Amino acid sequence: MTVQQLKKRPLNRFLKDFKHTQTHCGRCAKLLDRITLTRRGEIVSKTAIARLDTLMDEHSWQVERHAWAALCRFCGDLYCKEQQHYFDIIGFKEYLCEQTAMSHGTIREYVVRLRRLGTHLASHNIPAPGSVKGYFDDSLEPWLPPTSTNNYRIALRKYGQFQARKQNMNVHFQENKSTSDIY
Ligand SMILES: [Zn+2]
Repeated sequence: MTVQQLKKRPLNRFLKDFKHTQTHCGRCAKLLDRITLTRRGEIVSKTAIARLDTLMDEHSWQVERHAWAALCRFCGDLYCKEQQHYFDIIGFKEYLCEQTAMSHGTIREYVVRLRRLGTHLASHNIPAPGSVKGYFDDSLEPWLPPTSTNNYRIALRKYGQFQARKQNMNVHFQENKSTSDIY
C-alpha cells in the first residue's frame, strides 16, 4: 500500500470533495444548484457535516461513500422529510416524472400544491375519497381552500389520473393472475 492510500483525512473533507463532484441530483437528475447531502436517506445538515471529523483513509471512504447521496432541495424535502399520508406524494411525483412530459418546474408546482392540499384536508379531518371516482366527482369541492381553488382542483384531478392508472395496473395484474390460475 502506498503512503497516499494510508493517509487519513477527516470525513468532512471527503464529503466536501464529494459535494463538489456532484453535478446532478441523485433522484431526479436535475442539474444541482443548492445541494442537500443525505446519508442513508436522511438529510445531514451543514453543521452536522462540519462535526463529522472521524479520520479515515481512502479505502474506508470508498465504502462510506455508498451511504451518501447529493439531492436537489426539492427531492431532499420530498424523500427525506416526514411524509403525510393523505396523498401518496412520492408515488404521484414519480408518476408525473415517468408518465408525463411535464417539465421539472411544473411537476414541482403540482407536488407542492397537492402537498399543501393534503395538509389542509387532513387538518380539517376530511377523509380521503374511498374510490378513484371521488377525485373527479367534486365530492371534495366544499373542502377545497377558498384561495387558488382552481389550482387545487386541477392538482386533485391530476392525482385522480395517477390513482386511476395505478388501479388499472392492479386490475391487469389480477386478470393475468386469474388467467394463469385457470390454465
Ligand atoms: Zn432532485
